[in-house]
Amino acid sequence: MTDCLFCRIVAGEIPATVVLETPSVLAFRDIHPKAPVHVLVIPKEHYADIAALGAGDTALAGELLAGVAAVAEKEGLLGDGFRVVFNTGESVGQSVFHAHAHVLGGQTYGDL
Ligand code: 5GP
Repeated sequence: MTDCLFCRIVAGEIPATVVLETPSVLAFRDIHPKAPVHVLVIPKEHYADIAALGAGDTALAGELLAGVAAVAEKEGLLGDGFRVVFNTGESVGQSVFHAHAHVLGGQTYGDL
C-alpha cells in the first residue's frame, strides 16, 4: 500500500468529494477550503510536484490543465475568474507531495 495520500484517494482507499474524473485526472474538494470554491486537480499517476510532472510527461501535464479548465467551467468560475496555485516545495507550503493544482474561486484576490 502506498503512503501517498492522493494516490490513496485515487485508489478509493480514502474518501473524497469528487468533482471531475477522467481516465488520467481526478478533481476533488479540498478538505480545508481556503475559498468558497477550492478544488484540487491531480494526475492519477504519481509525480511529486508540477516540476516533476512537467519534466516527465507533458501530455499528462496538458490533461491536468484541461482538468483545471473543466473544473472551472463546472463550478461556474469562468465569468468571475479563478486562481490556480501549484505549491512546489516544502518552503512555499507544499504539504502533499503528489502534484496538484489548487483551483480557487468565488472570492476576490489582490495582486500576487
Ligand atoms: P499543498 O499544501 O500541498 O499545496 O496542498 C495540499 C492540500 O491538500 C491542502 O490544501 C489540504 O487542505 C489538502 N488535503 C490534505 N489532506 C486532505 C484529504 O485527506 N482530503 C482532501 N480532500 N484534501 C486534503
